[in-house]
Amino acid sequence: MVATNDELESLRLQIRSITSDIMQKVQQRMELARQVGEVKGRLGIDVRDEKVENEIRMMVTRQAQETDMSGEFALRLLNILLKESESIQGLKRPPAPQKMTHLGIFQKAKQMEASGIKIIHLEVGEPDYPAPAVAGSALVESFRQKKYHYTDTRGIPQLRSAIAKKSKVAEEQVIVTPGGRFAVFSAIASLVKPGEELISIEPAWPAYKECADFVGARTSVLRTTLEEGWTPDVKELGSMITECTRMIAINYPNNPTGKVLDKATMDKIMALAREHGLYLLSDEVYSDYSFRPFESALAYDYEKSIVVSSFSKTYAMTGFRVGYAVAPADIIKKMAKVQAAGITSVAEPIQNAALAALGEDPSGNVELMKKRLQFVSARIKEMSLRFVEPDGAMYVYPELPAGEDMAVVEKLLEKGVAIAPGSGFGDSYKRFVRISACRPKEEMEKGLAVMAKVLRQA
Ligand code: PLP
Repeated sequence: MVATNDELESLRLQIRSITSDIMQKVQQRMELARQVGEVKGRLGIDVRDEKVENEIRMMVTRQAQETDMSGEFALRLLNILLKESESIQGLKRPPAPQKMTHLGIFQKAKQMEASGIKIIHLEVGEPDYPAPAVAGSALVESFRQKKYHYTDTRGIPQLRSAIAKKSKVAEEQVIVTPGGRFAVFSAIASLVKPGEELISIEPAWPAYKECADFVGARTSVLRTTLEEGWTPDVKELGSMITECTRMIAINYPNNPTGKVLDKATMDKIMALAREHGLYLLSDEVYSDYSFRPFESALAYDYEKSIVVSSFSKTYAMTGFRVGYAVAPADIIKKMAKVQAAGITSVAEPIQNAALAALGEDPSGNVELMKKRLQFVSARIKEMSLRFVEPDGAMYVYPELPAGEDMAVVEKLLEKGVAIAPGSGFGDSYKRFVRISACRPKEEMEKGLAVMAKVLRQA
């Protein structure tokens, strides 16, 4: 059959008309969302209701099946609508109390310091011990040798090769990033599309959700509990996977709980990711601070895993802003596109400093952190707080005997001690606080004594 211009024009008119209908319906949906927001505000209930979301998801999946539409596309579209509804509903709520993360408290504490108030910093994950001296010499040497130019977006060959050797992978599987944080960002930005879903296991470092939000993706949260030793329920994790799920983000040793997964649970999570073809983002920036056997995602040789590491914690190089990711070469290429668009490359002198640090033995730092965590744990026990002793990382995450985190955090800050509110790691953790063991023992002792006193008076 010969196609004619009239035929094309007629089809285009129909598409225009349907698009206009869809837009009108979307507008009606948004108006309803606004009203729902008002009602929920009056009732004082949360904007997001996962049960209702799941019901509507099931309805859309059924409808897609009946009409032969791609279920994945239908759910992605629905997720965009749900996200928009959520923000519209949020607009109509009375302003919620500002949610504070550990970084928010850190900024506040810094301002107090600037006005002359002395602060004990137990809120931030920044080791106080010095970066390796060789990192400093490498910086100076870089300057002397005029090694301060743009580099390959994925990093200088010497550093990539050293990381590849350490991780037992090929150089093409490595990208050097400005901190582990940017590796997390470029992995999510390059692999997860608007409307798709990422599963995060809470309590969690907030960046996974923040990055997903940034790219217009949805975050589904698997909650873990103190009672269950912060072990994720893998069955529940499986039940959360939809056609839109693209990535599971895990972080062990965990910030904030210090949990290290046992191998059997890690095996199950990897098997689940494999079965559903999901990306597995394993944030392993604390892997050196692991006080029991730790199984890296690298050990599974999975073609969709991205392992994030950093020089910040192991070598106390937070301000250098250098980390890296290890993943199959095709994923690294995608991440490199995000990095090229955003930063060109990590600063060459910083990469040379990282290369020098990589040759250093971090076991002294690790031993020190282990002792400090034991010390903090002992003090927390004396306060009779419920917690799980950390298997790794740099934090202790106890439950408060009563009340909510911000009341205690603010009272402590008034007295010159900064700790992190538990709710910064997930909405369900208002009863928790995070104490970072990154300061000298004497300082932590003072800070924890103030905390004990505040809790006794509460
Ligand atoms: N991942 C986790 C779990 C963290 O706690 C942090 C920092 O606190 C990072 C990644 C990022 O570290 P950086 O960007 O300094 O490498």
